[in-house]
Amino acid sequence: MSKNCDRCGKPVPKEDNILNVEALMEDGFTYGFAPRHIACSPSRAQYIRVEPYGQPDERPEYDKRIHVQEGRGKLVEIMERDWTDAYRKHLDLSSTDIWEPASYWRDLY
Ligand SMILES: [Zn+2]
Repeated sequence: MSKNCDRCGKPVPKEDNILNVEALMEDGFTYGFAPRHIACSPSRAQYIRVEPYGQPDERPEYDKRIHVQEGRGKLVEIMERDWTDAYRKHLDLSSTDIWEPASYWRDLY
């Protein structure tokens, strides 16, 4: 499993991997996804209300401001709460890396 970002191609440190944040969400599903920097995931990062994140994704199909205008404000509120909670947890547990177990076992053999 490559540890490079599938957007920008640069290495993704575990503390900057959106999958490590998503894995902490109640319905987070990250298995099989390539790592990606948080900032390279604007559709998700827009829901993290912690600096420097939280800026709306400018792509209209993802832009949370458009979701709100279209009557999905409650959903945006829930997403912001869930992503921000997960991100705070992630900061607390920044030693967590969902890819680590695999490399740990590989190194044993
Ligand atoms: Zn990236």
